[in-house]
Amino acid sequence: MISPLLSNYAPADLSFEKGEGAYLIGNDGRRYLDFYAGIAVTSLGHAHPRVVKAIQDQAEKVLHVANLFRIPEQEELARKLVDATFADAVYFCNSGAEANECGLKMIRKYFSANGQPEKFRVIGFNDSFHGRTLATIAAAGQEKLLEGFGPAADGYDHVEAGDLEAVKAAITPETAGIIIEPIIGEGGIRVMDPDFLKSLRDLCDENDLLLMFDEIQTGMGRTGKLFAYEHLGFHPDIMSSAKALGNGFPVGACLAVEKVAKCMTVGSHGSTYGGNPMAMTVASTVVDVMTEEGFMDHVSRIANHLKQSLNGVVDRYPSVLEELRGVGLHLGLKCKVENSALIAALQKQGALTAKAGDNVVRLLPPLIIEEQQINEFINALENACEELSQ
Ligand SMILES: *Cc1c(COP(=O)(O)O)cnc(C)c1O
Repeated sequence: MISPLLSNYAPADLSFEKGEGAYLIGNDGRRYLDFYAGIAVTSLGHAHPRVVKAIQDQAEKVLHVANLFRIPEQEELARKLVDATFADAVYFCNSGAEANECGLKMIRKYFSANGQPEKFRVIGFNDSFHGRTLATIAAAGQEKLLEGFGPAADGYDHVEAGDLEAVKAAITPETAGIIIEPIIGEGGIRVMDPDFLKSLRDLCDENDLLLMFDEIQTGMGRTGKLFAYEHLGFHPDIMSSAKALGNGFPVGACLAVEKVAKCMTVGSHGSTYGGNPMAMTVASTVVDVMTEEGFMDHVSRIANHLKQSLNGVVDRYPSVLEELRGVGLHLGLKCKVENSALIAALQKQGALTAKAGDNVVRLLPPLIIEEQQINEFINALENACEELSQ
């Protein structure tokens, strides 16, 4: 007999009754410091009063109407995101993978609508992650995501992240765009060199290609800006967002500049749930909180404190930790021991973290984290390192 639940995950034997800010209360009665935030999702912490209120109020009005009718909450959130970013228009969906699907479809549609349907290929990067749909596993350069699922969807080429010459060599008359995470997240918190990203922007401009950033993990304040591209001084043509956008309520968004967005004509794409009043109200509240004066200053300040403290631990335990990576509160500890051993040792100390590729432990605390909770985490990390260095 198999479990009635599909066996595609291997969860730790722990569940949670409730959450409060940066803490999760386990069914074992323990209070855990949440340093993974549901994989960069609950960035405002658990049970944030404004998010709770928004959900309660909207639940009493209307949850869903489908896109057969105007959805004012959708128009309002689209306006907020357009005002806060480079984008001119936004499409709403329910997850990160769907947001990327929309972006990848838009790249093709743009060239098709402009009389160049032969341009449809997209260059992606080794060890990136864009979701689990057939197109997004083909776009990411990871064999293990494709295994067992038949021939990979056509139209994706891969090169090593950071290798500009390889990108140039991969461009053909069929190339339509480039998709990249400005910081490779699942693949091990690998921060892309800003010069490399700028070169991609230039290459796209010179070769008439579209540049798409997957900001599903880096976006919504994680790096100390609303989106990571804001650190760079230029912007992509298309950008996906999800994860922290709904603080736990499923929602995704694909943002684009006008010339791309206007190719998505009536009937070209859609979603039944996408952009429903409940999802929009929650995401709108998250955007409001994050764009309030002082919010990102707090993220940058607290991130500096965390980084400094973490670097101290890395220096003190060279047999356990190799280096600290990341920007803002999008951090990773590259380990010398097995990353899963450090995660287990941290859990014993009451701190929850997440695994990433390249033997990295991801540290993704909620953005509302305070200094005292950081000190608590550092204490847990010291104890875990002490145990592992014996
Ligand atoms: C999580 C993630 C996705 C996929 O999002 P889902 O909501 O799981 O579909 C895509 N890209 C990046 C960079 C992510 O971190």
